[in-house]
Amino acid sequence: METYTFAVVGGGIAGISCAETLSALCPDERVLLVTASDLVKAVTNYQKLSRTLETFDVEEKPSSSVEADCPNVQVHKSTVTSLDAVRHELRCADGRTVQYDKLCICSGGKPKVISNGNKHVIGIRDTESVKVFQQRLTAARRIVVVGNGGIATELVYEIEGCEVVWAIKDKSIASTFIDAGAAEFFLPQLNQDKPDSSGPVKRLKYMPEGHTVSKKTSDDRPHGGALGPDWASSRKMAGAGQVCHSIHVEYNVEVHHVLDGTEMTTYGYSASEPFKAPQSHVSDSWPVYVRLSNGKVYGCDFIVSATGVVPNTQPFVGDNLLSVSPDGGIEVNSCMETSATDVYAAGDVCTASWEHSKHWLQVRLWSQARQMGCFAAQSMAAAVRGEKITPDFCFELFAHVTKFFNYKVVLLGKFNAQGLDAGHELLLRVTEGKEYVKVIIQDGCMKGAILIGETDLEETFENLILNGMDLTPFKEHLLDPNIDIDDFFD
Ligand code: FAD
Repeated sequence: METYTFAVVGGGIAGISCAETLSALCPDERVLLVTASDLVKAVTNYQKLSRTLETFDVEEKPSSSVEADCPNVQVHKSTVTSLDAVRHELRCADGRTVQYDKLCICSGGKPKVISNGNKHVIGIRDTESVKVFQQRLTAARRIVVVGNGGIATELVYEIEGCEVVWAIKDKSIASTFIDAGAAEFFLPQLNQDKPDSSGPVKRLKYMPEGHTVSKKTSDDRPHGGALGPDWASSRKMAGAGQVCHSIHVEYNVEVHHVLDGTEMTTYGYSASEPFKAPQSHVSDSWPVYVRLSNGKVYGCDFIVSATGVVPNTQPFVGDNLLSVSPDGGIEVNSCMETSATDVYAAGDVCTASWEHSKHWLQVRLWSQARQMGCFAAQSMAAAVRGEKITPDFCFELFAHVTKFFNYKVVLLGKFNAQGLDAGHELLLRVTEGKEYVKVIIQDGCMKGAILIGETDLEETFENLILNGMDLTPFKEHLLDPNIDIDDFFD
């Protein structure tokens, strides 16, 4: 049996960030990375925009490139099938057993797919599943997208040449990230033509030799790492039709039933027509139908289920006394340690179970996967050296920058007033089509903000949230576009 000082499971952003950091911190120790996927995700072009905001690209690389970049890291391509945390042993699907001193589990999440196993329903998680989606889309005239998080929002914006019925369970779009007011700001973009995006694709993609798109369904193949920034904008997502953007949103609904034509007849349902001026393809029969909780039935070529992920804990929990939180993630403390000795976890698989700083919350995002992977490595390295480690500054303030509908979106602190009592106030500044600024104030202090567009306010607001300054005297002027707020607070 081979022995390693450090073992890391998972070739996503968390696992690769952890392995690379371990390699840099402990160049003389042996590190093993076990990953089920052919390709791994590496963070490149990392830029710090402010104390807590960061941007980066994600490159898909062959796993061998990690060995080339980090000489003390060995990559083993296999699926871990079990963990014996007492004996410090990992078992892999190819029969290999590995002994470790410290282990970090970074096995990510699995998509929660409605009507799983139905050939007309696709879940989106990794590069492979996006390829399957793109291929099916080329022949599609109408699809139904179910879900209201980042994946669904980006997809709906990017798809062209295909009618989209977007079924969401909330009263406003993209509600995982933004409030109803910001959703109103984006609504006019839904049916508008997209700006020309024929620029170069930032992300490099590699395919292992002889690789073809797997015919397996999402359930019976190993999951690759979740996608990274620009996953949607860098791909052609075009259907078979002529329309540029044609989107119909059904609010406050869930999918009650996925049916085929025979079941439609059996139940005596008839399909509704969602579009006022549908494409010429309108037909009486579709490959699949969805019946929504509001009783409406829509036919389509296929359904995209973008209804979130669940932590992928299966081979690790079992008899290992790993505490699992109610959301299904492996609980970790502020040093990313699980409840099992010498076992750490990071990224989508874990649940941050320490007492959070008042401006931070866990959201399963690539920025947090990177931060947790790096910090778990620091914590593991400190543990083998017998040193103490203090929680990282990145867990002081929630900060995320992304793009929706081609607008820059910055989320800071309790951006949706998460966990705040009813006494908080909202300050708003909206310029239609240009910017949307929302600030959350409680007891005179800024607690969070949503900044959409090129507002240039992120750094000042980050400081105001962190330093807890009493803004009562300035509240009236805080969002006054005629005041240079940067100078004001300098
Ligand atoms: P993953 O990337 O899921 O990696 C898990 C790795 O573990 C994989 O390599 C897998 O093969 C491996 N693995 C799993 N089980 C085993 C096993 N038993 N043995 C060996 N290896 C195993 N985040 C944002 O910040 N902004 C966004 O706009 C955004 N959009 C997204 C869009 C999509 C379509 C998706 C799917 C996710 C999106 N996310 C977004 C979320 C973000 O991608 C994830 O939070 C992040 O990538 C998680 O990284 P991870 O390393 O924890 O897990």
